Amino acid sequence: MLFAFRKNEPHTQKPVDWASEYECSEKRREFLLSATRTLLQCIRQFALDIRELNSFEFQTGLAELAESMGSEEKLSRIHARFQGHAQGIGEFAEKQKNYLRERETEFKAIIDILTKAMVAQDCENREFNRGILEQSQRLEEMTRLDDIKRLKQTLLLEVEQLQAAVREKETRDSETIETLSRQVTTLNSELKSVRNESERDGLTGVLNRRAFDRYINDLVARNTMKHQDVALLMMDIDDFKRINDTYGHQAGDRVLVSMANKFRQAVRSDDLIARYGGEEFAIILPGASLRNGIKKGKQICDLVASARYLLEGMPPADALSLTMSIGVSACQKGDSATALICRADKALYLAKCSGKNRVRSEKDCT
Ligand code: GH3
Ligand code: MG
Ligand code: MG
Repeated sequence: MLFAFRKNEPHTQKPVDWASEYECSEKRREFLLSATRTLLQCIRQFALDIRELNSFEFQTGLAELAESMGSEEKLSRIHARFQGHAQGIGEFAEKQKNYLRERETEFKAIIDILTKAMVAQDCENREFNRGILEQSQRLEEMTRLDDIKRLKQTLLLEVEQLQAAVREKETRDSETIETLSRQVTTLNSELKSVRNESERDGLTGVLNRRAFDRYINDLVARNTMKHQDVALLMMDIDDFKRINDTYGHQAGDRVLVSMANKFRQAVRSDDLIARYGGEEFAIILPGASLRNGIKKGKQICDLVASARYLLEGMPPADALSLTMSIGVSACQKGDSATALICRADKALYLAKCSGKNRVRSEKDCT
């Protein structure tokens, strides 16, 4: 066993055990070497596999460094090499951090583009949706920043093209809608005028018989559901045949037209004037009682009788005078249109029989 005394130490102290001291420092060296290698291994694993950052070279360098740490080289050389790598590790870590940050920013931008595109586009555009899906699948496989940037550009371009296509379609659609709505408006007004024409009597412009039948049936039906007064005036021009016979049919027609105009003057806007047939007219007075109907009939009778009818080329002194006979009925509970018309007709017949130019009502017939 090898013993010695430590320098400057009094001989009274215990001698130094060099063998155990050596063993101890050898163990320490081995421990430090293994700890350093483990740490270098950890740093290698922290480096991601990114070609743009030369990760492979970095990792190889670290492996070589770990290997050389235990070599028999001079300590100064091992030290210098370690120093060089220590600086490189710091720089690599910084580069990797920046790279990842930039990659994250690009991903966010792509997600933003996709989200906006999804919101802006209608789901009908299948071609676009398929394109986006494909790009999204590629996105999942992508790790390189350059690829991501390229994908972002492609998406931006596709989204722009699609937006332009959508805008164009919108313009086309709105033009089509405008044209269609113009056509609908025209058709509506044509339909209205055709419907109006189909309800009118060609000579006098008042409602024709068909329209009269429809309105009277509607009104009587409504009266059955909820009682609402309706009066009916059946009117016949007195001795009209004589006009035709004396002045001709055309003169008779003009008299019919001016007679219809007289009725228009006498009634309210919601009253319905119809040509029932030949020289017979009917007036429906919604909301009017029998009394009101009789009153209105008398007014019309007076108006017609007091007027003078001047035919073309006729001296004013020869102007014609005409009269009318009128029968009045009013809607009753449970009434039918046929019964209502029938009662007004009977009253008209009575007016004719009792001397013409007068009003008679259903009450007079009982
Ligand atoms: P009354 O006082 O009894 O009603 O006698 P009236 O002559 O008025 O009745 P009548 O039924 O004898 O004759 C009706 C005439 O009305 C016969 C027909 O030629 C005429 N008439 C019917 N429709 C038209 C028409 O559209 N135009 C013309 N000009 N005459 C018509
Ligand atoms: Mg008649
Ligand atoms: Mg007549």
